[in-house]
Amino acid sequence: MFGISSEYIIKKYEGYEPKFGHDPEGAFLASYNQYEGPERKPEFDQEDAFTVSYNQTDPNIIRDGIDSVSVIAETSDTYLINYHGYVAGCLRVTRRGMIELGESLLGAQDGIPKWVIQGSVSDEELPWWVPDDYDVALTFECQECEKEVASENILTPGECEIESPEQFCEDCWEVIRTEWRTEHFR
Ligand SMILES: [Zn+2]
Repeated sequence: MFGISSEYIIKKYEGYEPKFGHDPEGAFLASYNQYEGPERKPEFDQEDAFTVSYNQTDPNIIRDGIDSVSVIAETSDTYLINYHGYVAGCLRVTRRGMIELGESLLGAQDGIPKWVIQGSVSDEELPWWVPDDYDVALTFECQECEKEVASENILTPGECEIESPEQFCEDCWEVIRTEWRTEHFR
């Protein structure tokens, strides 16, 4: 899972299921039932976690997969990884497992990265397991207004259907999306 060899996974906690619903105002809510197996999931303080998110750049697609991976150091050699999305769970891994996680999510990526570090962090604040070549300040040019946009904000509509999709900033996409959809998905 996440490119981590099974020998570096000390324990896998599963068995808590996502629940989707809507609040009284109609806003979408996702919550997860607490693990109720014989071994409860370890305490995980999300506030102290370092989170890597899936970078969904195609605004036309609703993806079902894992969209966030949060890490806390449990001891000097064990780390807890909480993952959320269409499924949720927790892994306890060794330091070597963390090297593999860092490489598989944040290692050399061509073009727009599929996984990005959440929030604004400087190079100095990155945890040791983030690969050296990960660029926190990577940007891409909007093909409409030519503004440079951070990796997590660039949009690539039609990515799955179009061979070389264009790249837009969120502001331009707001303006052109109706026309764009008419043109591409008639
Ligand atoms: Zn733009």
